[in-house]
Amino acid sequence: MPQQLLVTAGEVYPGRGTTPITDGAVLVDGPLISAVGARPDIEARATANVARFDFPGGTILPGLIDGHVHLAFDPTQDPPEALRHLDDETLLREMADRAGAALRAGITTMRDLGDRGGLAVRLRDEIARGDRSGPRVLAAGTPLTPPGGHCWFLGGEVAGSEEIRRRITSLTELGVDVIKVMVSGGHITPDSRKPWEMQFTAEELRRIVDISSELQLPVAAHAHGTTAIAACAEAGVSTVEHCTWMRIGDNPEIEERLDVAERMAERGICACPAWPSDWRSLLDALGADVGKRAIEKMVRMRDIGVPLIAGTDAGVVRSEHGGLPAGLELYRHLGMAPHEILDMATTDSATALGIGDRAGRLAAGYDADILVCDGAPLTDITALQAQRLVLARGTTTRP
Ligand SMILES: [Zn+2]
Repeated sequence: MPQQLLVTAGEVYPGRGTTPITDGAVLVDGPLISAVGARPDIEARATANVARFDFPGGTILPGLIDGHVHLAFDPTQDPPEALRHLDDETLLREMADRAGAALRAGITTMRDLGDRGGLAVRLRDEIARGDRSGPRVLAAGTPLTPPGGHCWFLGGEVAGSEEIRRRITSLTELGVDVIKVMVSGGHITPDSRKPWEMQFTAEELRRIVDISSELQLPVAAHAHGTTAIAACAEAGVSTVEHCTWMRIGDNPEIEERLDVAERMAERGICACPAWPSDWRSLLDALGADVGKRAIEKMVRMRDIGVPLIAGTDAGVVRSEHGGLPAGLELYRHLGMAPHEILDMATTDSATALGIGDRAGRLAAGYDADILVCDGAPLTDITALQAQRLVLARGTTTRP
């Protein structure tokens, strides 16, 4: 019989659309949740030798989901330079350490959107087999980019439609969970296209999405400029990463292309803003006007009904691994209530990433991915940082 755990707290929040349970409990059998409800009812179902964890002043929540990380990156170093000096085995060990740090911060699922040589897939499998402890990893492998394009140094350069097909086929054989494509330039590859410029044509992007969907894989598209975002909306990607509606160059403002945001909303294409966990220093660096405008654009997108998911781009500058709890405070500036932010970072993200049938909620039969915090994160999002216990598929970790 698997080890049974009983976790009790002053409040239990099972996820979007549920009412918090006062004086509640969660019963865990092996890797799965077996019951959630009022403490006396759940206690009655526990075996005599159950292991107990009691947090009368705390709140039990579903574990957090970081929808955009790079385990291969160290936020204190320049990625191309740092990676040049690391062999695969050393890099894999560093990635495992970073995944462990994220787990201790309450992140029980992460989507890695760009590794080197499929190392995030290897790490995912080692964790899933129980060879290492860590969060559930969804891995994109190495992102597709044109020759010399954004993040070319990870090894995913492709030119022309035949190479695109071959690359997606080999990523599928490797077992990736999602295809990542660099539709626009980015900030960490200074010699490539600018963040607001398209790198692939709209036709190439359509082809990438079509091939991926034939192979039953969603596409996560990195796109900053409005023109790139419009191509993503038309091609039918699953998530648009960053989605900053940059208006430099020939890119219009979001206000001039509300049709694009409406199309995203209509097709259920999510935006993952992927602001770094130290978003405050990014806002400072952008300056008051640009920062205010960046927030306004996110609010606009949300008002139109574009679904948002949580992500931190962990591994890039200003974004340490495990920084999601602090990063989520940004969403208070979008006018989101703490419980809406929690729903975004749990239930909504699980649904968007295709794992909504086993993660993102506390319910019988779901994976036992659980976070316990002191205080009341449903009304005060900063309480997410007062963590007491993390469970990843039934295995306990102390923050
Ligand atoms: Zn990224």
